[in-house]
Formats: sequence, structure tokens, C-alpha cells
Amino acid sequence: MARDLLKVRIDEIPDAGLDVSIEKADERFAALVAGLAQGPGEQTGKAQVRLELWPKRIDAIGSFAVTVPQVCVRCLEPFVMHLEHQFTQYLMRTSADDPEEAGDGEIELSLRDLDRSSLVGDEVDLGGILQEELLLATPTKLVCKEECKGICGGCGAELNSEPCTCEPEIDPRWDALKALKLD
Ligand SMILES: [Zn+2]
Ligand SMILES: [Zn+2]
Repeated sequence: MARDLLKVRIDEIPDAGLDVSIEKADERFAALVAGLAQGPGEQTGKAQVRLELWPKRIDAIGSFAVTVPQVCVRCLEPFVMHLEHQFTQYLMRTSADDPEEAGDGEIELSLRDLDRSSLVGDEVDLGGILQEELLLATPTKLVCKEECKGICGGCGAELNSEPCTCEPEIDPRWDALKALKLD
């Protein structure tokens, strides 16, 4: 079985830190990128993660750029989603031989404030970190463009390229509103 490049043993991180480059050729990363895609189209992605060793934690400082096909939730047209994201995660190290683990109150508090810390044992799973960050970076509403007008629920017109042909509804509240605005 091929070595999982996204799993880094902590004893393999040199004091100067470790830079890991992840390309889409990496199977696990490719699967994460594919998980964001909808419909056919080219998928590209690359990520960089720097791991820095600290006595009680490991900092994972990274970035990625990912391009995947998507479908607009408003107009239902396919579009190309491009995500670029930078992140820092603080990974608290567990150590059985250190019962004073909670002693460093200052660091613990600031890390808890960031709410981005998790525990690691003897290896760092870059796949889990990247998966989390990819989800964070993905907008909750996937639209082809911010100003996409979508599809009219009445006549079905694709409002970016054609006008709505619905009969205007007569709403008595409209007259009241007009009267207000004219004052
Ligand atoms: Zn759209
Ligand atoms: Zn319409």
C-alpha cells in the first residue's frame, strides 16, 4: 500500500518545521476535492501546509487553491468554483508523561478562544485538517455570481438572460406602500 502522504508522524517533523506540498495527484486530497464538485468538469487543487513544533502544540499553517465544477443554486447553471483559503490550526499535543498538561493557562485560554485546536497523538492527519478547512471555505450558498437573479418561480424565465413574463399581481398592499412613499 502506498504511503499516506497526508499523515505526518510527529517525530518526523524537524525543529525547523516541515513544509508539505500536496497536489491533486495525492489520492486522499483528490477525493476531498472531488467531494466538493458537482457535475462534470475539470478539478484542480493544490495545498501547502507548514507544520511547526512547539513544546505543547503543533501549528499547522496552510493554504490551498481548489477549482471544481459547481451548479448555481439560483439559476441551476453550471459554473466553475474557485476557492482560495489560508488557515492556521493549533494542535494540542497529548503526552502521557506530562500530568501538568493544563499548567500553561495562558496558552490554553488563547487557543480555546480561537476554538480551532484539537488533540494529536503521535501523528498529524493533514487530510482531516484540509477536509475541515475546505468545508469552512466553501460558501453555504453556491451561486454562479453574487448578483445572479436565478429563475422566476412563476414563468420559469432564466432572469439573467430573459425577462420575466409573469402578469403583474395586483396586491392591495402595494397601493398603501406607494401612498406612503409619495408623502
Ligand atoms: Zn446563477
Ligand atoms: Zn416570471
